[in-house]
Amino acid sequence: MAERTAGRTAAIVLAAGQGKRMKSSVQKQFMELAGKPLIVYALQRFEESEIDEIILVTGEESVSYCREKIVEAFHFQKVKDVVAGGKERYHSVYAGLKALDGRGISHVLIHDGARPLLTPQIIRDTLEGARTYSACVAAVPAKDTIKLADDHLFAARTLPRERLWQIQTPQAFSYPLIFDAYRRLFSAEEYQRGITDDAMVVETMAGTPVRLIPGDYRNIKVTTPEDMILAEAFMRAAKET
Ligand code: C5P
Repeated sequence: MAERTAGRTAAIVLAAGQGKRMKSSVQKQFMELAGKPLIVYALQRFEESEIDEIILVTGEESVSYCREKIVEAFHFQKVKDVVAGGKERYHSVYAGLKALDGRGISHVLIHDGARPLLTPQIIRDTLEGARTYSACVAAVPAKDTIKLADDHLFAARTLPRERLWQIQTPQAFSYPLIFDAYRRLFSAEEYQRGITDDAMVVETMAGTPVRLIPGDYRNIKVTTPEDMILAEAFMRAAKET
């Protein structure tokens, strides 16, 4: 049977961060969470989803470890490549986008490997969002009041909470749109200042509006040791229901 190429979908799973805030000798994406390396959870969700292929981005020194101990050991059929990321998150994303070039991808989901509590629903909703709006991100309404601080740690302004959303991943896009936006980002160094997510790249480099898609409060980014406890508790609760 001929391979379906038009409209193929992909996920880029990011695991090239240093994880300094975890204060552990093992990089956070490979730390054991409920008996498995943390990175395995997000990969499993994508493997079981309608996404056609996955690119895993990791540190240069971890590429062979990931191929052997993650992709082969856990039998991930959809992981088509493990590539080396870069210094900042946006370098790693660009490496993932380049690895998908020429593979007939129409839409791509970019996901922090450090978010193991990704759900099938969020994958479905962000993929549909990408198809409808070309650019979307998973997000949850801010629960806390958020203030802008001045340089001396005094509250300068209180932002209107009803319009504040915390941005998660997946961030999902038309592949040509996000790849082109990233190519522009890398055309001049001054564009790269302060980039913390992919939506910003599309907003600034392509001017395309980015739709917010309801995510899940449990879809946390495991960053500090307390987050491991939280993630384990959410996993336990999910198993009990
Ligand atoms: O550093 P931060 O917590 O924002 O990282 C979010 C995700 O991006 C993590 O999954 C991390 O591994 C990844 N990352 C990356 N390359 C970097 C920095 C972060 O792949 N240079």
